[in-house]
Amino acid sequence: MPTPIPASEHRARILAALRPLPSQGVPLRDARGRVTAVDHHACVAVPSFDNSAVDGYAVRAADLIGASAVCPVILPVSSAIGAGQAAEAVEPGHAAKIMTGAPMPEGADAVVPYEATDRGSDKVSLNLSPQRGANVRCVGEDVTGGALVVAAGTRLTPRHLGALAATGHGTVDAHREPKVAAMSTGAELVQPGQPLAPAAIYDSNSFIIASAAEELGARTRCVGGVPDEPSRLRDALEEQLDWADVIVTTGGVSAGDYDVVKALLSSHGVWFGPVALQPGKPQGFGLVGRRRVPLFALPGNPVSAFVSFELFVRPALRLLQGLKPDGRPARHASLARALTSPAGREQYLRGTLTDGVVTPLGGPDSHLVASLAQANCLLRVPAMTTTLGAGAKVDVLLLEDAR
Ligand code: AMP
Ligand code: MG
Repeated sequence: MPTPIPASEHRARILAALRPLPSQGVPLRDARGRVTAVDHHACVAVPSFDNSAVDGYAVRAADLIGASAVCPVILPVSSAIGAGQAAEAVEPGHAAKIMTGAPMPEGADAVVPYEATDRGSDKVSLNLSPQRGANVRCVGEDVTGGALVVAAGTRLTPRHLGALAATGHGTVDAHREPKVAAMSTGAELVQPGQPLAPAAIYDSNSFIIASAAEELGARTRCVGGVPDEPSRLRDALEEQLDWADVIVTTGGVSAGDYDVVKALLSSHGVWFGPVALQPGKPQGFGLVGRRRVPLFALPGNPVSAFVSFELFVRPALRLLQGLKPDGRPARHASLARALTSPAGREQYLRGTLTDGVVTPLGGPDSHLVASLAQANCLLRVPAMTTTLGAGAKVDVLLLEDAR
């Protein structure tokens, strides 16, 4: 039996074999969740012209010196300017009605809001004395032309899309979305919704893996329940190898008689070996086929598959998209109750984290899918730690976004 390698080493080997996917022009409307491949600079300044920040009257501040509620200044109104309309110049001693976002007329240098006027049409009574520039949004106040708007390596959210649109980008240069084939193997697997035959179980892994990959921005295919026969597995893999950027198989990597994934792929350049991890000890990774598609062969138990995804596939999918290959955010927490852990294996238990205290859920067994669903964190016990008392400080990985 080969010596298990640390999980960190397995991850480092995987990441060393990968490069970000090429970039492409993506219409802004399709770009949410994509990761920018280059810096994006403003095509135009924002605002690109001086405009009014309020509905009111554009004036020369000098004409209103001393104006107040008790001593208003009355000016003739020479024009009305709506948003999107061209503005006529304002002569000294005149005012122009102006709406929010409308261009400032030449000659005016401040806007008096409606609230400080009688809202007159031919002439207006103005009861305050504005500073020059009051209620005027100036050219480039938000972004100057050419300034950096969104840096390379940014996952685009609605906020970024707004800034890109405002600065004139119809498309963005973004990394391609990884295409991930999630393939579950096992003669015992039945698709949920179908009747369960004796000795059969429902396939949960392909749903876990495909949806986890989608959450990370991947496009996915689910290939559920490939039987434990080398020729069927080979056919299923070949069908995906032209399409996929990543293949994730589950099952068939241990030392059982029907562990066909390991048997077939060992001779196709995929490394198989033990990783010092619980759950998730048997792992496989390699680049397969003409396109050298990264293939992750994860163990079959659903919790093992999930933990393996988190530790190995997640950072890889991030790297492929041009992001830092980070894992889930980690926090320190104190342990609600004592626990033991096997020597020499980094252990990940499911847990619930509340107010800085983590309670382990279920047991260490890796088939416990219901407690996985209840967990909001993974509790990490280092390889060399075998016992932890109640109150001990531990690291947890957050499974849910803080909202
Ligand atoms: P294997 O690694 O193929 O020996 O599978 C280990 C355990 O995980 C067995 O109990 C399998 O029945 C179970 N298992 C394998 N694949 C899946 C799957 N897709 N969904 C649920 N359980 C699975
Ligand atoms: Mg199996």
